[in-house]
Amino acid sequence: MGDVILVISVENFIKSLLSSANAVFASKDMLTELDAAIGDGDHGINLDRGFKTVKEKIEGKSYTAFSELLRDVAKALLFSVGGASGPLYGQFFLKMGMKLGSKPEATLEEFANAVKAGVGGVKSIGKGERFDKTMLDVLIPFSEVLSTCVNEKTPCAECLKRAIEAAREGRDETINLIARKGRASYLGERSVGHMDPGAASSFLILEAMCQALLSVETDR
Ligand code: ADP
Ligand code: MG
Repeated sequence: MGDVILVISVENFIKSLLSSANAVFASKDMLTELDAAIGDGDHGINLDRGFKTVKEKIEGKSYTAFSELLRDVAKALLFSVGGASGPLYGQFFLKMGMKLGSKPEATLEEFANAVKAGVGGVKSIGKGERFDKTMLDVLIPFSEVLSTCVNEKTPCAECLKRAIEAAREGRDETINLIARKGRASYLGERSVGHMDPGAASSFLILEAMCQALLSVETDR
């Protein structure tokens, strides 16, 4: 059996984004409950509305470039999610698309670089870092492990699986952290003992995206 190399087409990435949307719809109540504990209880509602808008915008439409697709995704999230997470997720997908540019397909290395650019965008507009108890506690380890695995020439499927495991650990670690950014930071030490809702949503968005990418993996 030859080396399995993942090539991500714009078309398959649309499927991955729709898969992330379905994961958000299925977890709407869970995300809202997490936000009710340490925020204002709207995270699931916000993201459900946002990904419905994304779905309406991109489903059935044909795109030839990542930049065009991801600009539509970013705008849909920016204008419909509201709250702190709308601009942050919007920026994530916008920067990803800018990095991928007008290409119709991407290698896993290019995808990893795009994720890194997206995480950079979230960090710069939210002024956040790792261990602030936010979505960055999932996005940063996901991006770092993905880049490391790709650089070490780990098989593609394994790269995605390890990145997802790192993201899951990052999500679970938010339970014991004190929130330093966003609404939950108003609670200080009382935020300890609860998982961050944005970390939970980032994890399920990335997990569904990677699973969809793995299911279209081709042997070349
Ligand atoms: P709001 O807090 O405005 O109600 P949401 O409930 O939709 O917005 O989103 C809350 C999530 O946004 C948090 O759980 C956290 O993960 C994320 N978040 C908030 N502020 C920041 C920030 N500065 N950097 C990164 N993520 C943040
Ligand atoms: Mg909220």
